[in-house]
Formats: sequence, structure tokens, C-alpha cells
Amino acid sequence: MELRFGEKEEKLRQEVRAFLKEQLGEPRHRGFASVSSDEEFELARKFNQELAKRGWIAPAWPKEYGGLGASIFEQMVFNEEFGYWGAPDTGTRGFGVGMIGPTLIIHGTEEQKKKYLPKITSGEHIWCQGYSEPGAGSDLASLQTRAVREGDYYVINGQKIWTSGGHRANQMFALVRTDPDAPKHRGITFLIIDDIKNTPGITIRPLINMANRHHFNEVFFEDVRVPVSNRVGEENRGWYVGMTLLDFERSGIGTTAAQRRTLEVLADWLRGAHPDIRRRHRLKLADFVIANNVGRFLGYRIGWLQSQGRVPNYEASVVKIFQSELGQRIYNWAVNMLGLAGQLMPEEPRAPLYGDMPENYLESVPSTIYSGTNEIQRNIIAIRGLGLPRG
Ligand SMILES: Cc1cc2nc3c(=O)[nH]c(=O)nc-3n(C[C@H](O)[C@H](O)[C@H](O)COP(=O)(O)OP(=O)(O)OC[C@H]3O[C@@H](n4cnc5c(N)ncnc54)[C@H](O)[C@@H]3O)c2cc1C
Repeated sequence: MELRFGEKEEKLRQEVRAFLKEQLGEPRHRGFASVSSDEEFELARKFNQELAKRGWIAPAWPKEYGGLGASIFEQMVFNEEFGYWGAPDTGTRGFGVGMIGPTLIIHGTEEQKKKYLPKITSGEHIWCQGYSEPGAGSDLASLQTRAVREGDYYVINGQKIWTSGGHRANQMFALVRTDPDAPKHRGITFLIIDDIKNTPGITIRPLINMANRHHFNEVFFEDVRVPVSNRVGEENRGWYVGMTLLDFERSGIGTTAAQRRTLEVLADWLRGAHPDIRRRHRLKLADFVIANNVGRFLGYRIGWLQSQGRVPNYEASVVKIFQSELGQRIYNWAVNMLGLAGQLMPEEPRAPLYGDMPENYLESVPSTIYSGTNEIQRNIIAIRGLGLPRG
């Protein structure tokens, strides 16, 4: 057994690091904090354009779809370095490369691949995900947003909620109900809604989160017309298309790398802190470094499974639970360690460590909810990983 990246990957890592240093300066230890202000979004857009010039938006995709045909381990190098340096994203890489792109590669028609994949790899299309509804989250198959076929169009009425980046996106992929009489998983269709800002009948309303950031939205549909050619997979079989996509969403390792950077920053801070504070916290920091390494190797296992052509299943749930709960513990501890001033947010110039710790703490809270709550992930481990019966 040999547990290390090869020469080719390490060479690539140096190249990626040099690029990130040139583009972003020092690593930003952003952790969970997402792009929210106009300024950050513009930075993310420009950054993605630079990536696009190098074919680095979706390196692992086949060359015919605008990628580099990079191996899964090379892709991991990109993800790890991007996470470590806090590389910003608009929704092109997260939702585009991480979710809709792979789904189209598996389930899309040739026309759909030709139409959408190049606009992801160029950074032009910024995607959002229209799955959740007020009455459908963990029990997603209960979704009620209705799409009725009228000739060559579907006409959509209903509401989505918690739509991350919906106010910035120009494209949405969504699950809609096309057969209300069928068993609930069998009446759902997967649709792409183009140019959501200019399509009549779509209203996007902001939801402000507990970090006081505009991250997600409610999206309302009133007689929104979507061409039938925008359907991915068969009518009423969208549940299975949508689930392929969720498997991709859970396999990243960037979060562990971002947490590693945070721990380095906190170690630096502790080095300069009063000896009493240092003595009180140093062993806890050592605990977090151990846990972070565990997270890193759990992430590598996902990459290894993918390199063997296998789709990670309960193993991805293990990673999701571990990373999200570890992140909450790290940032909670960091805020407490920094004392009263540790509660100051980035807007406050006197905030220690740029106010990143309280912001990341607040943004880490929902990480145990999104991408499938941690209770649901534990159910998956119990059923699929341990073979226990449901309930
Ligand atoms: C920051 C953030 C960003 C998001 N972005 C998006 C997005 O871009 N697009 C999108 O479509 N959605 C998005 N979501 C929505 C997210 O997918 C849902 O919040 C999530 O699926 C949970 O659904 P819910 O909020 O309706 O909670 P519920 O499903 O109502 O769950 C409430 C509680 O009950 C527990 N629970 C429910 N069912 C079970 C069960 N069977 N066994 C054990 N416990 C259970 C849950 O774990 C949870 O603790 C986002 C959410 C957050 C917080």
C-alpha cells in the first residue's frame, strides 16, 4: 500500500498553487463563508474567467465537453488547493461542475450536452438548484411544484425555497411534479429553466440568513413556460436523474482543506497570544488537527472509490457528517478562544482575524442541514452501510 499522490499530481499542485497565489494572494481561510457581496461575486466571476482560460473550471471532464480529461486524483488536487486558498465561486463550479454537468453527461441528450456543458466550462452559466419547497426538504419526493404539458412546453406553477445563489444565477435545474396521481417518486420530472432572470413568471425573493447575508432565496413560478427539449431524462423519471446528481454533490474534499487552513491561522494566532491563553487552548488545537487529518483521509477514500469507477454511497455520508460537525466545533471553539472581540464580524475593522471566525461559525450551522441533513445521512449509513432495517 502506498498512500501518496504521484509525481504528476504533485507537479500539478505546484502549478495550481502558483496560479492561486498570483490570483488571490495569500490563502483566505474562508471555511464555510460563501460569496455574498457584489464585490465578492465580481471577484469570483473574474476568477472563474481566469480558470476558464486554462480549461480549469472542470478539469476532470472529457476534452470534448471542455475539460482536460484529468484523472480523479488530479481533480482532487484542484479541489484541495481551491479549498485551502478559499477560491471564490459564482455557482458555476459548485452547481454547474459539481451537479448539473455530471448529470447531463450521464442523462442528457447530445443537444443538451452541446448546449450547456461549454457554457459551464466558460464560466458563463451560473446555476442554482430548485429542489426544496416549503413542504418538501428531507422528504423531497413530496414536492408539489406542478408542470403541465402544453404542446412543446411545460407550464410551471409553484414555489421553491432555500435556493442558494438564485439571485445571481442565470440558469436553474429543478424537480417538478408532472403526474400528481402516480406514486410520489414516479410523478417527478427534471427540467432545466434557461435565463431565469428574463423568463416571464419567475419571481425571486431574498431570504437573509443568520449571518445577515443574502445567500438563498424563495423562487415563485407563475405560468412559466419551459420547452420540452429542456427535460433531462424521461417524463416522470426525474427522481432518478435528480438522485444521480446528489451523489456527486457529496464527494468534495475542499472543505477539509479549508479547515486545515483555518487551523494553521489559529495556530499562528495562538503563537502570539498570552501564555495563559496558549496553555488553555493548545491541546484542543492538537485534537482538531488530528480530526482534520481523519477528515482528509475519509475524503481521499471517496476519490479512490471514484477512481475505481464506483459512485460513492454511504461513504460520502460519512464524510458529510464528519466535515460539517467538525467545522462547527472548530469555529465555535475559535470564537470562544478569541474572547469577546471574537464575536466581531468582518464589517468591523477591529475584528480579530478579519472577523472570519464568527462569520464561519454562523455559516457552519446550516452545513448539517443542507445537502441532506445529518440525520438523513446517519439513516443512510445505518441502512446502506450497516445493513440495518429501516426504522
Ligand atoms: C444554507 C442552505 C442552503 C440550501 N440551498 C439549497 C438549494 O440551493 N437548493 C435547494 O433545493 N435546497 C437548498 N437547501 C435546502 C435543504 O436541502 C433542506 O433544508 C434540507 O433538505 C432539509 O429540509 P427541510 O429544511 O425542509 O427540513 P425537514 O426535512 O423538515 O427536517 C426537519 C428536521 O427533521 C429531521 N428529519 C426529517 N426527516 C427525518 C427522517 N426521516 N429521519 C430522521 N430525521 C428526520 C431533519 O434532519 C431535520 O432535523 C438549503 C438549505 C440550507 C440550510
